[in-house]
This record gives sequence, C-alpha cells and structure tokens, in this order.
Amino acid sequence: MFVVGLTGGIGSGKSEVTRKLRELGAEVIDADLVGHQAYLPQTETWQAVVNAFGQGILQPTGEIDRRKLGSIVFSDPKELARLNAIMHPRMFRMIQGQLDELRAKGVQVAVVEAAILIEANWTPLVDEVWVTTASEDVVVQRVHQRSNLPEEEVRRRIRSQLSNHERAKHATVVIENNGGMEELRCEVQHLWESRVQGRAA
Ligand code: ATP
Repeated sequence: MFVVGLTGGIGSGKSEVTRKLRELGAEVIDADLVGHQAYLPQTETWQAVVNAFGQGILQPTGEIDRRKLGSIVFSDPKELARLNAIMHPRMFRMIQGQLDELRAKGVQVAVVEAAILIEANWTPLVDEVWVTTASEDVVVQRVHQRSNLPEEEVRRRIRSQLSNHERAKHATVVIENNGGMEELRCEVQHLWESRVQGRAA
C-alpha cells in the first residue's frame, strides 16, 4: 500500500485535494476525525486528557468540551504542549492502526490528511509528504468566503501555524494552489499518474 501524507495551512486546499484523491480511488484517513474518536468518553486518551486537565473540561454528558479545553490550551503554550504530548503519540498509534486495517483489506493507496502531520511527527507513517500551499491573500479570500471569518483572524491563524517555507522543507511534493479549481484537480490527476500509480502494490 502506498501512503500519501497530505498537509498544509488553513484554507490551502487539503480538503479539495483529498476529494480528488478519493475520486481517483484512494482511501482517506482524516486526522480531525481521529481526534474526535480519541476524545470519545471512556477511551484511554479521554482518560489521559481528563487526568491532566481535570473534570472541569467535561460537559455534563461526559464528553470533552472542546471550547473549555481550547480556552485553557490556546492561552498558554505550556498547556498546549502538555495536551499535544498526550494527543500526538496516541493519534499516531490510532492512525497506524487504521492504516494497518486498510493494508489488511488490500487497499492500494491511502491518504492521511492532517493539518499537523509535520508538527505532530507523524511523517514516519507515510511514504510521501504532499503539502498544499496558497498565498496569504488567496487563503484570506477563500476562508472568508467559506466561513465569513474576518480577514485579521485568518491572518492571525496563518501566522500561528507553521510557515509554507517550513512545511516545504519536509515536502516530497508541493502543490501550489493559487489558481482555479480545475487547475488544482488537473495537478492532482497528474501527481496520481506520475507518482502513485504503479507504486501502489
Ligand atoms: P482547512 O484546513 O482550513 O479546513 P483546507 O486546507 O482543507 O482548509 P479547503 O477546504 O480545501 O482547504 O479549501 C479552502 C476553501 O477554498 C474551500 O472553500 C475550497 O472549496 C476553496 N478552494 C480550494 N482550492 C480552490 C481553488 N483552486 N479555487 C477556488 N476555490 C478553492
């Protein structure tokens, strides 16, 4: 099985690339969903997070209240590092387990879509790292259109993430996504034919 790790900044086009790769036949593991699975009540990860941050982060139903947890970790880098130290290795093992299942099913191509693939040290799970990039102004415009997030907030989020330059250092492939949607889909088609097909077995 050939495994592509797909990463990139906010609004850079990861989901659109994933959509195309799925159409071409890849199975996709979405790290956001894995994070949600990790937070399910009574799982080992849930327990570790509650032990570290206390019952105060729970909703009455026992689910982790992401807003409460967010307000703790996003105002203090030390707390964020503590949460990441709990989450990242566990999510690594969960993604690894899901890849093993796909392998056992005979799947040929898998994609791990993860905004934090590089920061979380998950690159050992994948054969190639593909990075989507777009200029700051293009991202601001697209994200604003998608979610009405104010321009300043988008720029703040971009700056809080790894830079494109930093990500490119880890990339096997950089997908520049400053053009139209058709251009992006053609680029992915080309990458599929040139890099993925034939290496899948
Ligand atoms: P996030 O991590 O913030 O969820 P993402 O990297 O998954 O973002 P997408 O959701 O794929 O990015 O793209 C952001 C927005 O820009 C979406 O609304 C998407 O449809 C749009 N978009 C992406 N690429 C293009 C393009 N080449 N032309 C026009 N719109 C695009």
